Amino acid sequence: MTYQAPLADMGFALKYGAGLLPALEQGFFGDLGVDDVEAVLSEAGRLAAEIIAPLNRVGDVNGTIFKDGAVTTAPGWKEAYRAWCQGGWSSVTAPAEWGGQGLPQVVNAACIEMWNAACMAFAVGPLVGMAAIDAFAVHGSAALKRAYLQKLVSGEWIATMQLTEPQAGSDVGALRTRAERAADGSYRLKGQKIFITYGEHDLTDNIIHFVLARLPDAPPGTRGISLFLVPKFLLNADGSLGPRNDVRAHSVEHKLGIHGSPTCTMIFGDQGGAIGYIVGEENAGMACMFTMMNRARLAVGLQGVGIAERAIQQALAYARERRQGRTPGMPAGESAPIIAHPDVKRMLLSMRSLTQAARTICYATAMALDRAEAGNDKAARAAAHARASLLTPVAKAFSTDIGVEVASLGVQIHGGMGFIEETGAAQLLRDARIAPIYEGTNGIQAIDLVTRKLPLADGAAVEAYLGELRRIVEAVNATNDPALGWTGVRLEEALDSLTRTTRWMLAKLDNGADEALAGATPYLRLFGVAAGGCLLAQQALAALRLNADAASRIALARFFAENFAVQAGALERSVVEGAAGVLGADAALAQ
Ligand SMILES: Cc1cc2nc3c(=O)[nH]c(=O)nc-3n(C[C@H](O)[C@H](O)[C@H](O)COP(=O)(O)OP(=O)(O)OC[C@H]3O[C@@H](n4cnc5c(N)ncnc54)[C@H](O)[C@@H]3O)c2cc1C
Repeated sequence: MTYQAPLADMGFALKYGAGLLPALEQGFFGDLGVDDVEAVLSEAGRLAAEIIAPLNRVGDVNGTIFKDGAVTTAPGWKEAYRAWCQGGWSSVTAPAEWGGQGLPQVVNAACIEMWNAACMAFAVGPLVGMAAIDAFAVHGSAALKRAYLQKLVSGEWIATMQLTEPQAGSDVGALRTRAERAADGSYRLKGQKIFITYGEHDLTDNIIHFVLARLPDAPPGTRGISLFLVPKFLLNADGSLGPRNDVRAHSVEHKLGIHGSPTCTMIFGDQGGAIGYIVGEENAGMACMFTMMNRARLAVGLQGVGIAERAIQQALAYARERRQGRTPGMPAGESAPIIAHPDVKRMLLSMRSLTQAARTICYATAMALDRAEAGNDKAARAAAHARASLLTPVAKAFSTDIGVEVASLGVQIHGGMGFIEETGAAQLLRDARIAPIYEGTNGIQAIDLVTRKLPLADGAAVEAYLGELRRIVEAVNATNDPALGWTGVRLEEALDSLTRTTRWMLAKLDNGADEALAGATPYLRLFGVAAGGCLLAQQALAALRLNADAASRIALARFFAENFAVQAGALERSVVEGAAGVLGADAALAQ
């Protein structure tokens, strides 16, 4: 079973869920029109289905080969990467002055979903590279950008993002890699990084590492971290490749999933010091890295969506084909396709509705990023920036959690065959499992949402979002369409829960944050189910208005509201009533 880009679902989420249609109609993206966006997505879908998706199993089975410090990627990887670059997919959002296409983040979000649905182990390398380009374009010096940016944008070189060290994972401030100032204005780096995605590979003839390190006189913690560009090969004065820099891959990890993606331990400076160039100011590396990480966090959320989409496509095809048992009234001796059984139907609807909800949250986050960057209205840009900041941890954590859940349901629908590798369902579950861990674990995302994002603008950013969601629910209730069942009521209850719990969180932050931290993960889930439910209902309303695909969009929104949004009340209790119990429960873990 291969992958077909779900262009109708993606288009609906973009236009009616994330607000792309009004933005295009208002000319927010210049003369970019709906037809242009549809053409881009259709071409991306073709490449994803025809060139990248066939790599998925090849990469899983072959993995990568590490020998004498070099990594050989799986068969077909290099050719697919070349086709991807030739199609211009590395440069979708990059500024035109550096050879990019300057298209909106929201359009690229849909593309990123497709690359990851087709083959996550392939897509994760360029994905990190794209996030690095965005940050480098903002923070890099003119000279550095002249030397490196165009080749990164074209995909001729790929970037890595290097934060993690053995003692510094979630706690980035604990990193020890050192950077000494050299007389010529460059720096010499010494240290070790672990778990570096595509730290070494054979896809490009140079690799540009973006590395966090500490100067000898740096203040402790995250305030003393600087960002450096460290090329694998140094450049000659004319820009051609010069000598090898003092950085190398020491080993490649054996992993649960994404076998085709080389995850490397990197050694800097065992020949005297890797030459690096500062990006941004000394000791201001975290600000630069945050630009990179926020893009990467959204992209990892889209990995969850992509995996979930591929899992539902595969499960649906299997459920239509596999016959077991009878449905009521069926003649003896016949058997029904398993999709006819209500429990299987429930699983499939769960998969599809969770996927479309997460997809829309991710696209809405990308749209907020676009609105934060363009337009003449400064206040609107600031509000959009706050919206993107608020939604990024939800996009990352909710989408990657549901990616695992949906992939697991995909295995379940396959029965015993799901546990057997050749169906591919098991690979999706194994691949999905990393996404809640990297780019900041989902626990760290939940803490970020609660402690940094809810207080934005004294709570006004989250209140404004809750107000928007409430207007969707009012519109649902105003339709009085019986096909929507309990949708309006359940979404209203979910929003009431989210509103009360948000205010509880903000009050707890004012009075010592421990209880807020204890409830952060269920709070993020509550945010996801309430927002996701409203965004699906918004698409159902649009479908009703347009008389286009209304029955299926209404059914999906209704299923989500009646089956997932109803969990909001329990999640509220888990946060508000359960947090104190978490803090007082050490005895349960004493043995
Ligand atoms: C396949 C793969 C690819 C990766 N690619 C890259 C890459 O390209 N570049 C890079 O720099 N890194 C990369 N990483 C590293 C990844 O980002 C880290 O593994 C991740 O940030 C978690 O850090 P850790 O593994 O040290 O876990 P820890 O930080 O040790 O966390 C362990 C557990 O404790 C929890 N925890 C930790 N601190 C807190 C806290 N303060 N409050 C509450 N809970 C807490 C976490 O949520 C987690 O559940 C990759 C990792 C893998 C496995």
